[in-house]
This record gives sequence, C-alpha cells and structure tokens, in this order.
Amino acid sequence: MNVGCGNDNYLTGEVLCVIFHRYIEGMIGMRFIGLLIAAAVAVWVYMDAKSKGYKTLSAAGWMLGVFLLMIVFLPLYLFMRPKQARQVEILMPCKYCGKYYEGSPAYCPNCGHKVGGYSFNEE
Ligand SMILES: [Zn+2]
Repeated sequence: MNVGCGNDNYLTGEVLCVIFHRYIEGMIGMRFIGLLIAAAVAVWVYMDAKSKGYKTLSAAGWMLGVFLLMIVFLPLYLFMRPKQARQVEILMPCKYCGKYYEGSPAYCPNCGHKVGGYSFNEE
C-alpha cells in the first residue's frame, strides 16, 4: 500500500496528505526562519551595542541573551541602551562670553548677545 502522498485512489486523502505535508514543512520553515531572524537580531544587537560604546564582552552577552531569549532580552536591551538622542550637537562658542551653546539660537543663552541667525546689520 502507498503510505505517502500519491495514492491516486483517494483524491481527498491525497489533498489532505499534501496539505499536512505542507503544514509540517511550513512549521519547520517557520522555525528555521525564526532562528534566522533571532540570529539576525542578535547580530544587530551586537553591532548596535558595540557602536553605542558597549564593551565586546557585554555586547556579546546581549547578543547571546537576545538570541536565546529574544522575548525578554530584546525589549530589555532597547530599554537599556543609550538613547539615540545624543545627536551630533553642534557646539558653538559665543563670540561675546565664550560659553558654548547648542544648535543655532538667535541669542546666546548665557549673555544674551545676538549670536546666530541672520544678522542684517553687521556691527
Ligand atoms: Zn554669550
């Protein structure tokens, strides 16, 4: 008797068998993809941690943690990691008082002199 898929006598059985096999293959595929995603995310965490100034050991620890227990460690890592808020701050020294200020305010936050923006009447 035919055990696998390919029994011509029972078309319904055949279809069900194919669906079943597809399902099993899908499950295996899902696991594989899941593993792949976990590995990719773990590598990303490692790279990200390194670029955020983590030491190789702690970055590897995060990577391992995310790979093994992503559901726990990934949110934890995202929560713990230094915020990306440290944008490239353009620090400019005030021409008048010498104090550095962020960005390009029109007036120095320290001494109040006009330092930025467009000055129509240069003094
Ligand atoms: Zn100033």
